[in-house]
Amino acid sequence: MTVPAADLLAAWDRGNLDTAGRPLTLLAAMGRPVEEHLSIGRRDAALLELRATLFGTPVRGAMDCPACGELLELAFELDDVKVTPASPDRSGTDLTVADGRFEVSFRLPDTADLALVSMAGSTATTLMDRCVRSATRDGVEITVAELPVEVVALVENRMEAADPQADVRLDLVCPVCTAGAEVAFDIASFLWREVDAWARGLLAEVHQLAGAYGWTEADILALGPARRRFYLEMTA
Ligand SMILES: [Zn+2]
Repeated sequence: MTVPAADLLAAWDRGNLDTAGRPLTLLAAMGRPVEEHLSIGRRDAALLELRATLFGTPVRGAMDCPACGELLELAFELDDVKVTPASPDRSGTDLTVADGRFEVSFRLPDTADLALVSMAGSTATTLMDRCVRSATRDGVEITVAELPVEVVALVENRMEAADPQADVRLDLVCPVCTAGAEVAFDIASFLWREVDAWARGLLAEVHQLAGAYGWTEADILALGPARRRFYLEMTA
């Protein structure tokens, strides 16, 4: 890891107070701030880069097979889930879907939208309310709630197509029952869990060294990882 431990720890602290703000907090603390009005896909591309810097590119995980319950191991590289070439930036751009009598103009969801929706109690309609700029039936303005579900689905599909990095899916095949499964990989929550585990491990080390030597947290965090490990071994 090439970033100062104290900076990442401070970001972890702030992220615990502001759940919805975690992705942007991490990016800002690590010197890669992005606008909250960038599309989710653009933000996630920045998070993938940050993850590579902090913890490297291999991803290892596990999940239960949805069909037979067998524990499946996940192993892939960040490049495998990176959309290449990078999709054009359509943050804030007006997109349009027309279907028979209906026409909808909308923009892509961004971090500010997700934050508001999660606070309001997540419903797809709320995200639609935020992102739809206008909706008409036979040329007459209607509300989002009046849109048929199939038109809403078209809008959602168009959002995904215009911002592919926002919705990463992994195709898995269970070696035991051979059932296929599609799982979502959300870099924002994945990276947060990694930072959370890292922070708790580091604080446990601070606790151990502070108890043994009487040093302050700042003293201990200022030590490089090799020196910290050396002193920990001495206390063991
Ligand atoms: Zn299975």
